[in-house]
Amino acid sequence: MRVFKFGGASVKDAAAVKNVAKVLQTTGFSELFVVVSAMGKTTNALERIVESYLNKNLDRNDQIKSLQEYHLKILEQLFKTNQQPVFNKVKDLFTDLETTLTRNKSKQYDYLYDQVVSYGELIATTIVSEYLNETGYKNNWLDARELIKTDNAYRDAQVNWKQTQELILEKVNKNQLNITQGFIGSDQNNFTTTLGREGSDYTAGIFAYCLGADSVSIWKDVPGVLNGDPRVFKNTQLLSHISYSEAIEMAFYGASVIHPKTIQPLQRKEIPLYVKSFLNPTTKGTSVKKGQPLDPYMPCYIVKKNQILVSLSSLDFSFIVEDKISEIFGLFHQYHIKVDLIQNSAISFSVCLDDKFNHFEGLLNRLKAKFKVTYNTNVSLYTIRHFTDEAIRALEKNKDILLKQITRETYQMVARD
Ligand code: ADP
Ligand code: ASP
Ligand code: MG
Repeated sequence: MRVFKFGGASVKDAAAVKNVAKVLQTTGFSELFVVVSAMGKTTNALERIVESYLNKNLDRNDQIKSLQEYHLKILEQLFKTNQQPVFNKVKDLFTDLETTLTRNKSKQYDYLYDQVVSYGELIATTIVSEYLNETGYKNNWLDARELIKTDNAYRDAQVNWKQTQELILEKVNKNQLNITQGFIGSDQNNFTTTLGREGSDYTAGIFAYCLGADSVSIWKDVPGVLNGDPRVFKNTQLLSHISYSEAIEMAFYGASVIHPKTIQPLQRKEIPLYVKSFLNPTTKGTSVKKGQPLDPYMPCYIVKKNQILVSLSSLDFSFIVEDKISEIFGLFHQYHIKVDLIQNSAISFSVCLDDKFNHFEGLLNRLKAKFKVTYNTNVSLYTIRHFTDEAIRALEKNKDILLKQITRETYQMVARD
């Protein structure tokens, strides 16, 4: 059995959805498990709807209307008449979304966020599943919330592997074509949870692990994993083969083509991951497998924007060592702030942080109570894996560098944007 994942770009409009069918025609579609995420930029639009709701901003109704029109336009281009039940299914999902907001009594932002943004995936999979049914690719639409169980850490939910494994083995018929949502699951009370932004790649990894799949293919708008994000770096080249450890390092440092959590479940069962172009499905793309050397071997460039560089020093000139560092990390954990890079000296400690959930202000107040704190927001973390002197020279040119760190394989630098 194979697992495929189609992300936002691969289902962003009607032509893209038709292309998904073409990919399945090329690759075959029996014993296939397909994960689909929200169409285009839908998740961002849903995030804005949550903001408007909480700020009691009346733009909310227009925002919902325009998101509905975007999906209805796709439907009109995919299906012949609006008599098709799929139109009603999608309209019903939008009605449910509005009801969720009007009936909501919770003040917990993260909880509400998950109840709302999950509609992007529910709507996208409804459309793709019905379109494939119409065009001869008979499939089962599965609700991922009935298969992936998590804790209730909304927006960053952790998978309960035991329950998830049991449900998947019980409910998924491996011999058919199945379609489900990426990114979403449910907690013990059956409230919807999400696995973190861009988490659909991870969903593919979860299903592959639980189903004991032969491979996972994630279909992207690039030829595979390149030695740099083509939106940022010029003359990038395709990496044909990389190891799990290389992939996990690159994803962790910010190569957004693979969600960093995807690799771990695959590596545990040695399930190969293929990163392929949905525009050229017959080309090889990148294969990620155990222990295979980076091929071609070359410097790989990664940039993570919008980071915060924080330096802490003690108020009384005492050392910042184990006890204080453990207290500082306790706070990072409590505020769901991810640490990208660490550097310390006797009386000062610097970290580059990723504040995905906008909790930095709360953290700052806590840190200021105990330390002298200086920080820079909007900095970028640049990483070169397998660096050369020439690669470093070229990257550093014209940059306002705040911090540098070099280990055997990895060069890192924090610079002002
Ligand atoms: P999805 O459609 O699955 O959400 P993403 O947009 O998350 O796909 O991932 C694809 C994008 O990742 C590419 O368009 C590219 O800009 C970006 N990217 C970042 N780093 C790399 C890299 N090293 N190789 C290829 N693409 C990269
Ligand atoms: N739709 C979600 C997001 O945009 C999940 C994903 O695309 O992987 O974050
Ligand atoms: Mg994405």
